[in-house]
Amino acid sequence: MSIKSQLENIQTRIDLAAKSANRRPEEITLVAVSKTQPLELLQEAYALGIRHFGESRLQEALPKIEAMPKDIHWHFIGTLQSNKAKRIASVFSTVHTFCKEPQVFEADKAQHSIDCFIEVNIASEVQKSGIAPFELDELHAKLLQSKHVHFRGLMTIGPAGLEPEQMRPYFKELRSLAERVGSESISMGMSGDFEVAIQEGASHIRIGTAIFGSRQ
Ligand SMILES: *Cc1c(COP(=O)(O)O)cnc(C)c1O
Repeated sequence: MSIKSQLENIQTRIDLAAKSANRRPEEITLVAVSKTQPLELLQEAYALGIRHFGESRLQEALPKIEAMPKDIHWHFIGTLQSNKAKRIASVFSTVHTFCKEPQVFEADKAQHSIDCFIEVNIASEVQKSGIAPFELDELHAKLLQSKHVHFRGLMTIGPAGLEPEQMRPYFKELRSLAERVGSESISMGMSGDFEVAIQEGASHIRIGTAIFGSRQ
């Protein structure tokens, strides 16, 4: 299927999911996850109106950012190494994966205004990045002191291998944490489960394979 028809299909599903939850589809930002995809596919998505792209590695993203038009919002969704946080904050407009205080400190040094999400390991999975729910208040407080890194909300990558409906309790849990800290945004939902995420309050959905097809 072409990117055009995949995007039309996703937009229809976003509209339906929003409607089923009495939400407006315009409240939902579709982040097209273009990691590992060649530049041509990003250009095609751009021509179809996509302005939010998600990348997970700095070295891969830099030439894409350089080559693509300047009115794009670049979202960093990969593991955030503290020693790269400054550089990442200087070229991306949003970082979804803050989970340690030194990352905030380093990102702030870029002196570039960015939006940020705290990544929460919502199912307490071992070997998974993101903070535990009990660590949230402390990191949130640190972020509020940052001058250039603006806290917007919480992000999660749910457990792999579950049916969409099985994700619902985790999305509900993230939403209640988000409400507790006064988040305006919630980044959750991927190709396999974005409709459930929208029903549970996602503001940002991150979709890769359902737009671009499988990754290399
Ligand atoms: C790769 C990735 C996505 C996109 O996953 P798909 O299943 O291809 O939609 C979303 N979020 C994060 C953090 C990712 O790493």
